[in-house]
Amino acid sequence: MDVSFWLKRLLGVMERSLPNRCLLCQQPCSEGQGLCEVCLADGEPGPLCLGCSRPMPAPVPWRCGRCLSKKRWRPLVCAYPYHHPLGYLAGAIKIQRRLSLLPPLTEALAQRLETLWSLGAIPRPDALLPVPMHPSKLPTRGFNHSVLIARALGKRLNLPVIEGRVIKQRQTQDQHGLSGADRRRNLKGSFAVLAGPRLTNLALVDDVVTTGTTFATLAATLRRQGHSVSQYWALASALH
Ligand SMILES: [Zn+2]
Ligand SMILES: [Zn+2]
Repeated sequence: MDVSFWLKRLLGVMERSLPNRCLLCQQPCSEGQGLCEVCLADGEPGPLCLGCSRPMPAPVPWRCGRCLSKKRWRPLVCAYPYHHPLGYLAGAIKIQRRLSLLPPLTEALAQRLETLWSLGAIPRPDALLPVPMHPSKLPTRGFNHSVLIARALGKRLNLPVIEGRVIKQRQTQDQHGLSGADRRRNLKGSFAVLAGPRLTNLALVDDVVTTGTTFATLAATLRRQGHSVSQYWALASALH
C-alpha cells in the first residue's frame, strides 16, 4: 500500500476543511485567494519606473532619470518590486507551488496594465507569450508557472495567449547566482521559434524578472525570426 498517497490525500482533506488563510498575515481570506484584501491594499506600491521597476513619486514621465537616458528599451510592467513582501511571494508560485497566489497577483498586474493603457503610457499588446520551460522540468514541477500567469492575464484582459510556438530546446543551468554575462551565455541558443504566422506586438510574460536576460534573449530570438515584442510583463521585478 502506498502510504504517502493516502497521507497526501488526508492532508489535502484537512487543509480544505480549514478556513483559507492569507499567506502574509494568516487572517482568513476568500476561497482560492492566497492573500487578504487588507494586505493587498496596504501593499500597493504606487507608480513604478517602466524601465527598472524602481518606485517613483509620480507615474509621469514613466521612467526614472537613470532609465530615461537609455535609448534602447522595452517597457517592463510588473505588479510589485521583488524586494516588497508581495513581490517576494511571486516566486512562491513556482518554488512552493502556491497556486492560490495566482489570482491576487495577476489581478494586481492586470489593474496596473489597465491604468497604463488608459493613460496612454504603453500600447495594448496583440497577444501574450509566456516564457517557455524545458519539457524535462514538467514532470517534477507539474506546470509552467509562466503559462499559468499568461492564461490568467489573457482571460482577465481578453487577450490571446500564444502557446507552443516558442520552445526551450536546450536545458539550461539554473540562472540563480549567475552574473549578467554568464546568464547570457547560459541562455544563448536555448529558445527556438517554430514555423507559423508572424507574431507582432507581443507581451512576454514571466513570474519574476531578475536581470532581464531571459526576456531580452527571448525577444532577440523572436526578432531574428521576423516577430516583434513590444513589452515585458512580470508579477515582480528585481531589476533595480
Ligand atoms: Zn493578509
Ligand atoms: Zn528606472
